[in-house]
Amino acid sequence: MKLAAASATDQGLVRGNNEDAFLIDDQRALFAVADGMGGHRGGEVASHTAIEALRAAIANGTPLHEAITRANDAVLTRAAGDDELTGMGTTLTAVVAVGGRQLLIGHVGDSRAYLLHDGALHRATDDHSLVEELVREGRLTPEQAEAHPQRAIVTRALGVDTSVDVDLYTIDIAVGDRVVICSDGLTTMVRERDIERLARTEPDPQRLAEALVAAANSAGGEDNTTVVVVDVLEVDAAGPEDRTALIPVQASGVATSAVIAPPDPPDPPARTASGRRPSRGRAVRGAILVLLPLLLILGAATAALGWYARGSYFVGASGNEVVIYKGVPGGVLGWNPTVDERTGIAVSALPTLDRDRVQTNSSRGSHATAQSYVERLQFAATSTTTTSTTTTTKPKTTPTTRRRSTTPTTKKRVTTPTTTKSKGP
Ligand code: MN
Repeated sequence: MKLAAASATDQGLVRGNNEDAFLIDDQRALFAVADGMGGHRGGEVASHTAIEALRAAIANGTPLHEAITRANDAVLTRAAGDDELTGMGTTLTAVVAVGGRQLLIGHVGDSRAYLLHDGALHRATDDHSLVEELVREGRLTPEQAEAHPQRAIVTRALGVDTSVDVDLYTIDIAVGDRVVICSDGLTTMVRERDIERLARTEPDPQRLAEALVAAANSAGGEDNTTVVVVDVLEVDAAGPEDRTALIPVQASGVATSAVIAPPDPPDPPARTASGRRPSRGRAVRGAILVLLPLLLILGAATAALGWYARGSYFVGASGNEVVIYKGVPGGVLGWNPTVDERTGIAVSALPTLDRDRVQTNSSRGSHATAQSYVERLQFAATSTTTTSTTTTTKPKTTPTTRRRSTTPTTKKRVTTPTTTKSKGP
């Protein structure tokens, strides 16, 4: 097998530093991209730590899956030794040649590997991101995912836990195939069909890597962008158990020693506080992952309760006056009933049965139900006064005396003897 690799990376137009790292190891036919996350220097340290641990493990003959596990251990160990690095993490997408005609991909996070075969670009990896999981579950369309505000939330990364779930893919390759490994800075800014067009039309891998980074920047460059391009120049003759030794790769690009020591820059400027993707810390994202469904459920429940609380009416008493209340007797979660309509009907003028009904707020329903009940009460009150000896029949009520409160400020908040007010949601 003979491969040619090239790379390009850029911090983009928005971020204050470059937290991506990459690796082109010709001796091992090993290629990788890591996208670090975390405050201060965390992101840079995480991605470079993972890349270096991966390189060392593969150099020692460690299988790819185990090498990525060691990279995870290395990030955790590094973070444990430095308070400033607590919570840092990184994605890692690594490609290594196996046999003479296959590539093995190990993958954690939302960086990606693509295979260009016969001019068509195929995504070889699944993103471990919130929006991609929603797409896979059919709850978001790919178009919605592209513009989703939470598309940066990663659901799997190195540096989070002592165990890490690594996706492994084996792909068959042919001469002329091309692999593109990239951080999400490319894929969030440049559409796949544009990546495909560039990958198909630019023959030189170095110029392709640079063109892809330039495309991300001309689309806004909102994130660091890193691209590694691997061209398949030769594959070994067919054979089911072909274990031909790897031929050292002839890299056409400049980055034959691509492991860059983590720089030690000053802390990122205010951009971190006001930037678009300021904290990709796992703690934040972990919290969002846990909280998001809870918040959605709470939001739906609150909306339903609010609808219930404010969409109902009942006929009750306000002092000695019969009124139509909007709301639920006793209130619900802070939505106390408000006086929607005064009737001018004296409670004391009502027949006993109706008086009980009014005083116990036992007539509930729609606004129309409440109004028709009030009309009955008006008749009952009038007829009562003709037979009753009570003197509290004024004001004489007619339908025209009803006043509808028209603005919220005229509504009187009714204090009701209830315990629900003190209950939090
Ligand atoms: Mn990124």
